[in-house]
Amino acid sequence: MAYDFDLFTIGAGSGGVRASRLAGAAGARVGVAEEFRIGGTCVVRGCVPKKFMVYASEYGQGFKDAAGYGWRADNLRFDWATLRDNIARDITRLSAAYASNMTKSGVQIFEERAEIEGPHSVRLVTSGRVVTAERILVATGGHPSRPLDTPGQRHAITSDDAFSLPALPRRAVVLGGGYIACEFAAIFQGLGVETVQLYRGAQVLRGFDDDIRAHVHAELERSGIAVKCGKNIAAIEQAGGVYRVLLTSGEEIETDLVLLAVGRQPYTEGLGLERAGVKLEKNGAIIVDAFSRTSAPSIYAVGDVTDRINLTPVAIREGQAFAETVYMGKETRFDHTDVATAVFTRPSVGVVGCNEAEARKRHGAIDIYKANFRPMKHVLAGNEQRALIKLIVRQHDDVVVGVHIASPDAAEMIQLAAVAVKAGLTKAQWDSTCAVHPTIAEELVTLKEKVRDPVAGKMEVTHTAG
Ligand code: FAD
Repeated sequence: MAYDFDLFTIGAGSGGVRASRLAGAAGARVGVAEEFRIGGTCVVRGCVPKKFMVYASEYGQGFKDAAGYGWRADNLRFDWATLRDNIARDITRLSAAYASNMTKSGVQIFEERAEIEGPHSVRLVTSGRVVTAERILVATGGHPSRPLDTPGQRHAITSDDAFSLPALPRRAVVLGGGYIACEFAAIFQGLGVETVQLYRGAQVLRGFDDDIRAHVHAELERSGIAVKCGKNIAAIEQAGGVYRVLLTSGEEIETDLVLLAVGRQPYTEGLGLERAGVKLEKNGAIIVDAFSRTSAPSIYAVGDVTDRINLTPVAIREGQAFAETVYMGKETRFDHTDVATAVFTRPSVGVVGCNEAEARKRHGAIDIYKANFRPMKHVLAGNEQRALIKLIVRQHDDVVVGVHIASPDAAEMIQLAAVAVKAGLTKAQWDSTCAVHPTIAEELVTLKEKVRDPVAGKMEVTHTAG
């Protein structure tokens, strides 16, 4: 049977664009549908605009720090509209570049919603057109969750709305304890917004190393954010232009903006996957194998919609592995181990490999090395913010199995550390690498003393520099 396309991709985000572009360049006839904007979450309402806002928010502390270095910056003002509009302009530029790259690879773009009609057919919702394809790739990403049973939750915005606010609020309440919540709390605070972060769990950044979690919590508070863990929301009320966040404890917080960042869900509702026999997890994630194949032989899925590791570079590599396997004659499966990740708080966090609890379970006996110090740049600045660097080493073969950094530029450092962790280098090999001085990163190759192993009960000797 002749199909209209060899491949039809639903969703032009990180995963869908990479897969479509490579398949098209390899000679496949490819169509892609996008219901919102080309580029997807990362470009339009995720990593890219967020990082611009992070940069903007860092200037606040930067101006304060500069005074200790002799700079006088008087009459400082922040203009939200300038930032918002400059970000919007760059997103438009990037989105156009993504579209143009796909078109250059021969991909036909349909700027409308697509739904699955059957194993080989897709309906384009606005035009009503039905197209057929030998294979369908679902790359529809995720969307912010809403606690629908919380009265008044509709008064809250999500990260999707945070980049286009008409004005910066004077006060904000951020609900959630994950990386997106922590990042937005830090952004708002850095831009001068009085910020409260509420989280129902015991500590922010669930899933991260416990030392990093405690460190980030303390530093968010030091920067001026009121971080309140163990708090449950009962309702959100609106009264005369302000909001009141009511907690189950009976406390009330008045604010000008409530940002919900309580998790994300795979975006599969209404997609028609059941019509093609595609099996889903309970949370709506598409179940796939190591080659991103779903339970329907002609349908594949990559990126956040599969809820494996929800990060842009992972979606890209999954999309690439799919295209290489199916259209480029090179069987490829993306290896999801030791994927580095960052949290763009102040200080930022960079992580690769196991956290301490996971390492104990997975590897048994481990050694911990830590440095908790005040970065040199902060000394003249009078900035009390501290850095934490932690290495986890498997005892039996000396391999470094986890690196956890909370410090300025941690995201940049962890990219390089990830090469060493991925390569399975030993602590002795890290130590044989000569330091770059004076840097924060030199701690990575100069950590000498082991921290007490609470399991074995040895003496604690925390290496503290600075
Ligand atoms: P997406 O990029 O979400 O793309 C899916 C696309 O499909 C969307 O454009 C959507 O409109 C479209 N679509 C959905 N359904 C349909 C349909 N039926 N028809 C047509 N089109 C459809 N990751 C990082 O690595 N680093 C970060 O710093 C980072 N920061 C983030 C900050 C925020 C606030 C958020 C929300 C996410 C962040 N992420 C970050 C995660 C990252 O954005 C995602 O992991 C990545 O975008 C996933 O790519 P994807 O291709 O799976 O889906």
